[in-house]
Amino acid sequence: MSNVKSIGILTSGGDAPGMNAAIRAVTRAGICAGLRVHGIYRGYRGLIFDEIEEFSTQNVSNIIQRGGTILKTARCKEFTTPEGRQCAYDVLRRHEIDGLVVIGGDGSLTGARIFANEFQFPIVGLPGTIDNDLYGTDTTIGYDTALNTIMECVDKIRDTATSHERLFFIEVMGREAGYLALNGAIAAGAEAAIIPEISTKQDQLAELIQNGFRKSKNSSIVLVAESPATGGAMGLAQRVKDEFPGYDVRVSILGHLQRGGSPTAHDRILASRMGAAAIDAFLDDQRNVMIGIKNDEIVYVPFTKAIKNEKPINQELMNTLRRLSI
Ligand code: ADP
Repeated sequence: MSNVKSIGILTSGGDAPGMNAAIRAVTRAGICAGLRVHGIYRGYRGLIFDEIEEFSTQNVSNIIQRGGTILKTARCKEFTTPEGRQCAYDVLRRHEIDGLVVIGGDGSLTGARIFANEFQFPIVGLPGTIDNDLYGTDTTIGYDTALNTIMECVDKIRDTATSHERLFFIEVMGREAGYLALNGAIAAGAEAAIIPEISTKQDQLAELIQNGFRKSKNSSIVLVAESPATGGAMGLAQRVKDEFPGYDVRVSILGHLQRGGSPTAHDRILASRMGAAAIDAFLDDQRNVMIGIKNDEIVYVPFTKAIKNEKPINQELMNTLRRLSI
């Protein structure tokens, strides 16, 4: 039986649709298990500056359908210093909080791992990021919603691309991971995806141009991950203008559109399952793990594995996109 009796929840780093569903699930499953639950506002900043409120089940009513995070999120430099983390620990002790649920991406879970080791403090992480770049989980909270948003945007851009017979580079998020670009391209029937995992190894644009983009069509859509490794949509468009002036090239950068909106059913269910599993993890005396999902089963992934471990892109997806864009 776990020693954890009172937990705090925070959301940190980039927001992702479904974070609210996760907060709701952690709160309700926690209260259901007899734990006290505290909402910590503005990520690690709120931990250091004591922005903490005890939650009842009502605090999380009517939020499952809302994008963003009711707890707000922030980036916090102080937490990267030992003094800042000591301050955070003192605040937790003052509130008699003895376990923490951190919902966020790679950076937030890195902070969680360091803090957990430093103070032997039980932490369970939930993967909350649209980028889907955490190792050990098939998907992350927010990824499916962002993917659907991208698909809808590309569908709309295609109307104008086809009418004007243009080549469109559409930039999507994914600094170090091409999941959104690759699966967005498949879902929207785009010609290609230019992603960091491949761009570091080969010149994808040169290959596309050599292949004449999509020979049988009068317009082309290419999804580009925003990473420096790809050159971004602007950089690629400039290259085409310089090297192949025959193309009528346009750029669309989807930007923060991709983060917002009501979470899809998939993300709400994923966040609900993962939030409830975070409470199970405490009750099982698990600590310093991220909750993941593998083949539709909840798994515990040690922080050391989930973070900074490259999640390889599925080659079958690349091949499918190539074969369907002839
Ligand atoms: P994300 O979680 O979306 O990847 P960030 O990389 O911005 O977002 O990280 C969010 C916060 O996590 C940072 O502002 C910082 O407070 C904390 N963090 C990130 N990296 C570290 C680190 N190496 N040590 C301590 N805290 C960190």
